[in-house]
Amino acid sequence: MRLILLGAPGAGKGTVAKMLTAVDGSVQISTGDILRVAVKEGTKLGKQAKKFMDAGDLVPDELIMGIMKERLKEDDCLAGFLLDGFPRTIPQAEQLKVLLSDLGIKLDAAVNLDVPRDVILDRLTTRRTCVDCGAIYNVKSAPTKVEGVCDKCKGKVVQRDDETEEAISNRLDVYNEKTAPLVDFYQREGLLMDIAATSSEVVVAAIRERTGA
Ligand code: AMP
Repeated sequence: MRLILLGAPGAGKGTVAKMLTAVDGSVQISTGDILRVAVKEGTKLGKQAKKFMDAGDLVPDELIMGIMKERLKEDDCLAGFLLDGFPRTIPQAEQLKVLLSDLGIKLDAAVNLDVPRDVILDRLTTRRTCVDCGAIYNVKSAPTKVEGVCDKCKGKVVQRDDETEEAISNRLDVYNEKTAPLVDFYQREGLLMDIAATSSEVVVAAIRERTGA
């Protein structure tokens, strides 16, 4: 399947993407993950992106499009892909449309995971991430067995710099201003699938029904 996953930070895009890749072998492409690796490795891209990410702001479109133009040409995309956290702005969506048309690729749907703001705020402030393997935990609903230590790789589990209350509030404002308009964009493109994302299982079932996967 070839999907765009839309939705505010914390709506569950990453979880849904992981569940779907297990179904049909398509690849999850998360621009946030790509950027975090670049920051950790201290690459030129990472250095350019870090200040935007720490503040909860969007990284400039040119940098993101540079990443995605290369990433979508890689062989593993032939089996299908789930775009998680991209596009985030109307210019990104417009450029993606041209890029996919040049590559001869058609999208199945742009899925909007609709989650109320208070649920998102609660989820993100209680989320913790392993700095080594990226595993996600939640201090309330899915804690690590030993506090601060990853169950999977024994790495350090921390609150991301952009998941402090101040940065989250900014990320949600940025989402409403820059990313929420994509819902109308994909509605006009005839690709929108709007789902009340009560649970990841509900979302996955709805997407599989729509795409036949
Ligand atoms: P995420 O893990 O998807 O929430 O992304 C974390 C951060 O990476 C965001 O708050 C942005 O600073 C940056 N980022 C990720 N994807 C994009 C994108 N498509 N456009 C601009 N910035 C992005």
